[in-house]
Amino acid sequence: MALPGTRARGWAAAAKIAQRRRHAEGARGSSSRAPPSSRAALYVHWPYCEKRCSYCNFNKYVPRGVDEAAMRSCLVTEAQTLLRLSGVRRVESVFFGGGTPSLASPSTVAAVLEAVDQAAHLPADSEVTLEANPTSPSGARLAAFGAAGVNRLSIGLQSLDDTELQLLGRTHSARDALQTLAEARRLFPGRVSVDLMLGLPAQQVQRGTLPAPDPELAAEMYQEGRAVLREAGFRQYEVSNFARNGALSTHNWTYWQCGQYLGIGPGAHGRFVPQGAGGHTREARIQTLEPDNWMKEVMLFGHGTRRRVPLGQLELLEEVLAMGLRTDVGITHQHWQQFEPQLSLWDVFGASEEVKALLAQGLLLLDHRLEAAVSAQCQVDGLGISVFPPKEAPAVRPSTSWDRTTCCKAKDLK
Ligand code: SF4
Repeated sequence: MALPGTRARGWAAAAKIAQRRRHAEGARGSSSRAPPSSRAALYVHWPYCEKRCSYCNFNKYVPRGVDEAAMRSCLVTEAQTLLRLSGVRRVESVFFGGGTPSLASPSTVAAVLEAVDQAAHLPADSEVTLEANPTSPSGARLAAFGAAGVNRLSIGLQSLDDTELQLLGRTHSARDALQTLAEARRLFPGRVSVDLMLGLPAQQVQRGTLPAPDPELAAEMYQEGRAVLREAGFRQYEVSNFARNGALSTHNWTYWQCGQYLGIGPGAHGRFVPQGAGGHTREARIQTLEPDNWMKEVMLFGHGTRRRVPLGQLELLEEVLAMGLRTDVGITHQHWQQFEPQLSLWDVFGASEEVKALLAQGLLLLDHRLEAAVSAQCQVDGLGISVFPPKEAPAVRPSTSWDRTTCCKAKDLK
């Protein structure tokens, strides 16, 4: 958290760093599409918050003071180390999450982006998202994040009801939320997303936690919310994500398509092949949770990776299925073959008794024709796998309700 007296200087520095990055991009020219093994998304975890929200289970800390220079330097170091280990040459999206990353200085954001661009390549049109709480950023501060290289904002609105916001322990009011949203839409037209929660309990807070929402009511609200958003022209492209005008989160899409991603910062998760260190197998990597310990490890070893778990082929395919079925496009043959070129989905599931039972109940359609546009997809009211020959494939597909959720995101509020 920058000291007020240093803010103007810090913002000017952030803008300068971002400008240097854009010039370097211009000099390099546009590069051709790199192979999947040398591309990745990057998640940056800023672990600090002003206050604990009553429902929150994220890795966050409410500190007395933050040594931002040390945190910045460690984020830069860890980004450099993991990019080197991964052998990634092109970072296609960066997501600053938390915690509350809008409490960080724009110059910290700019420093991380510059380090990423130098260690790999961060094309000028890459999606760079920052999560912001409605209380932390003023309009000028949001503009400074834009100058630092952020081009998409994800705002933690949660609710537009002051009683609910209090119940959630949020530090903002509905009025703050609307003001921040208006400012964000002015500064980042078409590239603003908001988090909204459904199924909030009307009851009181019990021992600092919220009681579980009534599942039937939450499901009803979910269906109602989907209908409202659909009516307003939003496409439901994932279980709890909606966008219009094509403004999908490309960063999250990488997760659901099982693309590579690097995670830096306390408690961040990543999944990549450590090619730069001679590795051939994808690993799940988890960074040390607690910020002070994480910083000590980064200063000693260049990174704070606490756990590395090699992912076998079966685990990877399970992820391809679980992630792909969350999306409205399901799992295409082409996508599946990227991970399993020998066996089709039909080869794997066609003889399964469980699958046969689902087929008989009409909950599952499994296509064995390789020319089909979609081989596996979830349907409303149950897990479903369906078939759309290419010419019949609708632009917007039916979406899912098998994973009932209490949170939804509405993208592109233009
Ligand atoms: S601001 Fe976000 S990360 Fe911080 S406590 Fe609230 S919900 Fe959790």
